[in-house]
Amino acid sequence: MELSEFRARANQCADWVADYLEIVETYPVRSQVRPGDVLKALAASCPEQPEPMADVFADFQASILPGITHWQHPKFFAYFNANSSPPSVLAEFLTAGLAAQCMLWETSPAAAELEMRMMEWLRELLALPKDFVGSIQDSGSASNLCAILAGANHATRGRFAHDGAAGASGPLMIYASAEAHSSVEKGVRIAGIGAANLRKIPIRDDLGLDPEILRRAIAEDRDAGRVPACIVASFGGTGLGSIDPLRAIGEIARRENIHYHVDAAWAGSGLILPEVRPLAEGVELADSFVFNPHKWLFTNFDCSAFFMRETARLTGVLSLTPAYLQSTAAADIPEYRDWSIALGRRFRALKLWFVLRTYGAGGLRAKLREHIAWTQRLADRIRKDARFELVTEPRLALLAFRYRGAQGDAEDLDALNEELLKRINGSGRLYLTKTLYRGRVVIRFVIGQTYTTQRHVEEGWNDVVEIAATL
Ligand code: PLP
Repeated sequence: MELSEFRARANQCADWVADYLEIVETYPVRSQVRPGDVLKALAASCPEQPEPMADVFADFQASILPGITHWQHPKFFAYFNANSSPPSVLAEFLTAGLAAQCMLWETSPAAAELEMRMMEWLRELLALPKDFVGSIQDSGSASNLCAILAGANHATRGRFAHDGAAGASGPLMIYASAEAHSSVEKGVRIAGIGAANLRKIPIRDDLGLDPEILRRAIAEDRDAGRVPACIVASFGGTGLGSIDPLRAIGEIARRENIHYHVDAAWAGSGLILPEVRPLAEGVELADSFVFNPHKWLFTNFDCSAFFMRETARLTGVLSLTPAYLQSTAAADIPEYRDWSIALGRRFRALKLWFVLRTYGAGGLRAKLREHIAWTQRLADRIRKDARFELVTEPRLALLAFRYRGAQGDAEDLDALNEELLKRINGSGRLYLTKTLYRGRVVIRFVIGQTYTTQRHVEEGWNDVVEIAATL
């Protein structure tokens, strides 16, 4: 493609994205295609001859768009949002244009130094300890894996990189709440520790991990010659937004000299609000901490902020310096390739810089406060409606409910709620997802999309009520 055509097409794409965001509300939130529909519309092989961009773009609209679930739809209340914002999109466009591979300081000094500064800004915004040092990872999953590796390295006194888990005097053990995200177990598997050595600690009535059971599990493991390596606490579990007792867990971790990681992938953004910080009391005891600006801080996926205290715990595992990767950075500038699973790194700091500067801390706080207030109001509506049950109180901007039937006494509640969810998502009017609460199906409602307003939340709940009436 000639650059003159690129210029015209880039303008067309910019217009298209702006138009799309203006009318995104008119699309069904969850894609309504059936499995295989998109595949059928795609050519079986790569074309031999170049095709005009106009044809490709037309096919994008005709064949691809129907298979898109609209995460930027203001009635997307499913999973956790992967929200975006216009400044973030602009930065992503520039990042793609620069196409810099930022593995070393030298391969783009601005990327490394902007990443350093952005991590300092975020540390300050969230009021995290001053000795936390951050890096941008691609995902919360990779950050959790990094924490597990750091813990394994610490528990084997630096032998993990060379000897693997065999460097420990017994099986390495990892501890997390039964509500912890599945990426913790995946990290344990990838690290070679084995899922059998992940202890899923039961939760209390408030959904937080029970620290007394954790303490006993660690003691039993030590008595049996096993080696505790890492405790992962959740600040905002995925299913129900569970919050573990961070101080009590941190005190155990300190006493036992076990690496202590806090997974705050979603709820961590909430810590920009001073009124939320008491919920994370004790986070200062953590050895590592992750939150995803790509969830609730208006920054395009992927952008995961991972902080550590003793960075050598991680770099001891990940740092390798063949002759072709030697560093030319100053001693006080990190080579971020030593902090990530992959060597190659995208320039992710740019979108954070664009977002943080154009919203300002005050603008971000105002948005999150709205989301939390609307969640409280929605909870009030649900409490007053006898046909529904508010199963868990709002945790920041997440609540869980279930339908009890028109008379409020349906027998097979799980089947009823599965059917309700199917109809809701099949309607395309809003998008919700489910989880289990004490083994029973409940429906989650998460408010955090960039373009959501109170009207969308109210409309969304009206839709739920209307669809439930059809059951
Ligand atoms: N941790 C928690 C608590 C999450 O909710 C999620 C994803 O929703 C993750 C980790 C994984 O994050 P990512 O999708 O960035 O890998």
